[in-house]
Amino acid sequence: MAKPKVAFFDFSSCEGCQLCALDLTPEQLLDLLNVIDIVEFREAISENSNGNYDIAIVEGSITRDSDIPRLKKIRETAKILITLGACSTIAGINALKNFQTKEEYQQDVYPDDPGKYETAEARAIHEIVEVDAFIPGCPIDTGEFVRVVKNLVLGKDPAIPTYPVCVECKKNENVCVYEKGIQCLGPVIRAGCNARCPSNGGYCFGCRGVIPEPNLNSQQDIMQKYDLTFEQMKEKFKLFLERNKEVFPNDK
Ligand code: SF4
Ligand code: SF4
Ligand code: SF4
Repeated sequence: MAKPKVAFFDFSSCEGCQLCALDLTPEQLLDLLNVIDIVEFREAISENSNGNYDIAIVEGSITRDSDIPRLKKIRETAKILITLGACSTIAGINALKNFQTKEEYQQDVYPDDPGKYETAEARAIHEIVEVDAFIPGCPIDTGEFVRVVKNLVLGKDPAIPTYPVCVECKKNENVCVYEKGIQCLGPVIRAGCNARCPSNGGYCFGCRGVIPEPNLNSQQDIMQKYDLTFEQMKEKFKLFLERNKEVFPNDK
């Protein structure tokens, strides 16, 4: 049976997630190429699929209205559309601009000629077209990338965790950073990174997005217990806050 043809596409992004998809171990690469053929991938091969692909893997958010027709065309062509990384899945770092008005960010970036380049608020791919599966993270986890693609090709659930980072953090037997006076979004952010940041001396800043039905009461209890205000949390977690807004339901 012919393997499905896979094409990679990018919109506004740093392209770091595509680089991760290239940075597989030999075992991971063989595993992947056993089930798919890559027919378009600007960072890796010069071939063009000419629209002949089954699965589209899309990196980056939509920050210009003129990108929408291209995205819709990709959606029409692909049987399966997968978003790759935080930029495409939750609008990612690009959504920082959404805290400002268009006039403000145009003025900040191009003060000499603010209207010179087309720009608009950053949107995740699912805000424009239907998405079949997503690979979270900034950047993605390569093991998860291979697993999601393989599972979809084999007709299985992509198996993205729906439980929070705290579960993996506790499994790793870390001392909670709140005990050290450091704030962390682990209670409401999607696991799957093996609690990478708190396990390496940091804290979770939310790059994998909020879990479905997050326990907001628990997050608020923690904020209260450690005498934290919404404003303190908002400032600290602004990087991915735009699309994680529901973590802080009381803007007080
Ligand atoms: S999610 Fe992060 S690493 Fe991936 S493309 Fe966006 S900014 Fe780059
Ligand atoms: S450090 Fe963060 S992820 Fe780990 S248990 Fe504490 S709140 Fe949860
Ligand atoms: S711990 Fe949080 S910020 Fe760090 S990789 Fe995991 S989800 Fe992203």
